[in-house]
Amino acid sequence: MTNSSTHDNSAIDALPSVAQIVSSLDMRARKSLGQNFLFDLNLTRRIARNAAAQLTGTTIEVGPGPGGLTRALLLEGADRVVAVEKDFRAATVLESLLHAAQGRLELIEGDAMKTPLWEIGTAPRRIVANLPYNIATTLLIQWLEHASAFETMTLMFQREVAERITAQPGDSAYGRLSILTGWIADSTILFDIPPEAFVPAPKIVSSVVQIRPLEKPRFECDQKALENVTRLAFGQRRKMLRASLKPLGGADLLESADIDPQCRPQDLDIEAFCRLARMMAL
Ligand code: SAM
Repeated sequence: MTNSSTHDNSAIDALPSVAQIVSSLDMRARKSLGQNFLFDLNLTRRIARNAAAQLTGTTIEVGPGPGGLTRALLLEGADRVVAVEKDFRAATVLESLLHAAQGRLELIEGDAMKTPLWEIGTAPRRIVANLPYNIATTLLIQWLEHASAFETMTLMFQREVAERITAQPGDSAYGRLSILTGWIADSTILFDIPPEAFVPAPKIVSSVVQIRPLEKPRFECDQKALENVTRLAFGQRRKMLRASLKPLGGADLLESADIDPQCRPQDLDIEAFCRLARMMAL
């Protein structure tokens, strides 16, 4: 048995390396699917260990690709991994892992954007993913709308996006993603991953971010209203809010929420944005 797991992982340990499987099947990375693969099992196991102290319940992986992170999750003791992948080639490349996992791994062939991850399996649920960068923030916002379904989300982003997610008011990266995440979750950057760890190597550094949903949002407001007001406010970051929020009532809306209409979006904390969202609903 492999150290941290109560499962018998000998069949997984006996598999050829992920790099060998990919090379034997000639699975080339596709840019259109945001494919940058991780082959280093030490690194993927580090990500899996950080995902949860115990991988009980359902571990949902988006975009398993050739399965480097999937394999790590199983080796680190995940009871059940459900992997959602859009690339139809994954079924072939994951075949030996599916077999070796002896029922602990399920592959859903489909688009994660159209898959309600919050309904998959039983709680506790967590998402662990090396996300395709082109759709990473859209997916995050969708999952935040169902945050209470997840114990944690341990996700890889470009470093610059990770900084935006975890930023606090006053930080230069503070913006819409910081507010939508901070309203309903704690988040932290766990560690960086250099470009050379990926095949092919991207141009930028990546970061693993852990998002831990709260039992309830920090401040009362409608999530969709918060999404809308932050979209408009940060769509024109340099403008005063009275101009960027004109479609929602501009200066009148701001005054009703007791906010100086001359403010720019980065001047407001999460509580102030929630006040605006509440006023919009009136
Ligand atoms: N997890 C693998 C790894 O770490 O080596 C692959 C990560 S790669 C950055 C992103 C993966 O997401 C690819 O396998 C890609 O095919 C998959 N993907 C892209 N768009 C997707 C979508 N809409 N739904 C599900 N998977 C998607």
